[in-house]
Amino acid sequence: MTLVPDLRPSVVAACLAVALCTAVAVSPSAAIAACSGFGVTPGQIGGTHFKASPERHSVLVAGTRGTRITLSGYVLTSACRALRGARVDFWQADANGAYDDTGVRLRSHQFTDTKGHYWLQTILPGPYANRTRHFHVTVRARGERTVTTMLYFPGVALNAHDPFFDRRLLVRLRIVKHRFQARFDFVLRR
Ligand code: FE
Repeated sequence: MTLVPDLRPSVVAACLAVALCTAVAVSPSAAIAACSGFGVTPGQIGGTHFKASPERHSVLVAGTRGTRITLSGYVLTSACRALRGARVDFWQADANGAYDDTGVRLRSHQFTDTKGHYWLQTILPGPYANRTRHFHVTVRARGERTVTTMLYFPGVALNAHDPFFDRRLLVRLRIVKHRFQARFDFVLRR
């Protein structure tokens, strides 16, 4: 695995010991059962880098450099119902903290499956300026309020200095077969 200075497996292992990094549930029923304890996903600014993207579950292409990570989870209603067919748009900086504002590199959208599940194969976004590592995301579903927000990573020192950082938007990280796996469930407000 390519290691990044502020997000090493040892850091992840340490954070796994605290509540925010508890082992992730893997079944949709477990996710929905846990939903009663979740608040609605808070929104954040979308920034200036959003643009249309292709539908795909992986943004990894030949020559993509960076630490591989799989992000996955469910899109749920505040009443703990899974939302099928919800549209999830992702955009992010590359490993050097740069956005592709002319092409579609590291940009994608997808629709949740019948169980409300989404997944994305990508790389860890790099920090830039005063921003810690983060994914940008917009989630839309019929009958629910659209949320645009950002996702953050535990164990990153820059989190403490980023004015937008919100620990409610931390992914849960684990390492499976030397690969980072991040989990986040979106809960939409009706
Ligand atoms: Fe950004």
